[in-house]
Parts: sequence; structure tokens; C-alpha cells
Amino acid sequence: VRGLLGLCRAGFENELAAELDELASDAGLIGHVRAKPGTGFVVYETYEALPTSVYEQLSDWRRPVFARQLLLWFARVTDLPERDRATPLLAAVKSANERFADFVLETPDTDEAKQRSGFCRRFAEPFGRVLEKTGALRRAKSGLPILHVLFEDAATAWLTAAWPQESSPWPMGIPRLRMPGGAPSRSTLKLSEAFMTLLSEEERTVTLRAGLRAVDLGAAPGGWTWQLATRGLHVTAVDNGPLADSVLATEMVEHLRVDGFTWRPQRTVEWMVCDMVEQPSRIASLVAEWIATGRCKRSIFNLKLPMKRRLDAVAQCRTLIHKRLASVGPYDLRIKHLYHDREEVTAYLALRQ
Ligand code: SAM
Repeated sequence: VRGLLGLCRAGFENELAAELDELASDAGLIGHVRAKPGTGFVVYETYEALPTSVYEQLSDWRRPVFARQLLLWFARVTDLPERDRATPLLAAVKSANERFADFVLETPDTDEAKQRSGFCRRFAEPFGRVLEKTGALRRAKSGLPILHVLFEDAATAWLTAAWPQESSPWPMGIPRLRMPGGAPSRSTLKLSEAFMTLLSEEERTVTLRAGLRAVDLGAAPGGWTWQLATRGLHVTAVDNGPLADSVLATEMVEHLRVDGFTWRPQRTVEWMVCDMVEQPSRIASLVAEWIATGRCKRSIFNLKLPMKRRLDAVAQCRTLIHKRLASVGPYDLRIKHLYHDREEVTAYLALRQ
């Protein structure tokens, strides 16, 4: 393995580059990071090729906030001929001497690269056939990584590997969610993606159950409230603005026109979610306070990052939360730049049980 390759939203390459650099140097690797603004991906390259085992803990895609996907790359194939891309790709796969349980063909998420998605679809069938023939593809075998072929442009591809448990399950790290009928705003998809990305299956089953209570701070027009209410949770929706009729019609929702920063519930609720547009440090402090004082058991919240120094803002929020919770007990804080996030990130916070 020659290094790490991370996918991100175009425009966030510098943030991801700094994170990958830090991950690698924490692990004692020596190398350099390469990121071109607007390309939607970042590459970390080590000065000496290292065995896969060195990368195992490094490759958890959940750790870097700005990575939609995190892959281990072992070859970059250039000058792919238009008429036969398979032959040089196969040669590179063979010389790496790795076996794979499956493969994915993808591109970075840019308008330019998306023009190749049709090619990726057409190429998948014939490429799979020859991969299988050479013995590099062992679909029946478990415990093998997935081969991800990333087409940087029509003539250049990165060959990378990912373990299913360590990587995003979605092609290009993008969950394609359909806008649910009845939800009033597209930001409903953000909370839905957060549930899928930031929580384990077990956490979803246990904490998103009918009958539990939730508070939604900055709820209007009600996209997040709708996600909770349709799962059968009772929601207190806090906002001076109006909620959509479709949300109130679920009859699971109480609407309070009060200030989200000062209002508190009388007893502990399972969830507090918060999408108020405010300084990230104010939101982080508010959430830490709710968790520390037992107002809610867990929280998903959005940190708006309109500023240039986005990584610093995220780090500052981590510090604020740590200061408030260090003496309370161990906690889980997971922060991710979701596909449905633009100039913002989404976080999950809870005390560890
Ligand atoms: N999550 C919502 C959805 O899915 O429909 C969208 C929320 S919108 C981005 C932010 C909301 O926060 C606005 O409706 C605004 O009125 C509300 N807000 C901002 N400051 C607030 C405060 N101090 N107290 C309560 N609501 C606040």
C-alpha cells in the first residue's frame, strides 16, 4: 500500500488534506499529502510502500470529518487507452498480488467527473468478468477487501482497497436518499443521513423507538421533527417560526414558540436535535450543557461553518465539549461532513453507557 485516498465534497480538499496528514503522522508515517482544490479527492503518499496491516486502524473512514470515503491506494494507472482500459488496469491489479471480494468503479464527485458515470456503469460488467478470470476476484470469500477503482479522468485511475467495516457502504461515499413525501424541507435528508452514518444499527434500533421523547431546537419548518415523528417519537419542536401542516398532522408534535437557547425540558428526553443557525461554539456549548445536566441522553446537531478556518472551528467545538464533559464521564463525539451538508458539519454526542 502506498497511502490513503479520501473523497470529499469539492471545495473541502484542504480540510481533508490536513486531516489525512495528521492521521498519517500520528501513525508515524513519513510522506506527503496532495490536494488540488475543486477535485473532490485528496491523496496521501508514503515515501516507502507499507504492508496493509499498518493501515488497518488508519483506514477507518469515520475518523476524518471531511472524508466521505477513505481508501488505501496501491497503484495509479495513467495513459489508459480509450479503446482498452481493462488491460492496463488488470496488469496493475495482478502485480499488486491482492485478492478482492468485490469491486466498485467510481469517480470523484465533480460535475466534470460525473460525465464518466455512464462509462463506469458500462465498464463494470466486462471488467468484472476479466477480474474474475485472473483470479483477483473471489466473490464467495469473506474477509477480503473491496477493490475501488477511482477514475480521476478518462485516462487516469487509482486502484484502491477498502474493508467493508472500515469504509462507507455507499458508492463514492454518497447515500442516495429519496425525498420522503410529507417531509417539508430537504434538510430532512440531513437528519436521515446522520442516523445512518453516525449511529450503529443497534443504536438506531434502541434509540429511535416509538414512544421515546425528543426535542428539536430550531425546528421550523419541520424536516428534522418529521424524521423523529414518523419513527413514532413524541417531539417538542422549538421555533418561533411556523411548522408545516404535514408535520403537525402527525399528531406526535408539540410546537413551542420559545427561545431554543434558554428553554429546557422538565424531564430527561432521549434525543435533543438542533439545527439552529448560530455560531458553532454556542451550539457546541449548549449541547454539552444538555448532556452534562441530563436533559437529554443523546444529541445530533449541526455546526454551521461559513468561515475560512473550518477545521479550527471544529477543533474549538471539540475542546468546548471536552471541557464540559471530561469530569462528567466518558462520551462519544462523532463529527462528519455529510453528503447533505454544505458549509456545515453534523455531529453526534452522548455519554458512553
Ligand atoms: N431542521 C429544520 C428542518 O429540517 O426543517 C430547519 C431548521 S432552519 C435551518 C433553522 C431554524 O432555527 C429557523 O427556523 C430559525 O427560526 C430557528 N432558530 C434560530 N435561532 C433560534 C432560537 N434562538 N430559538 C429557536 N429557534 C431558532
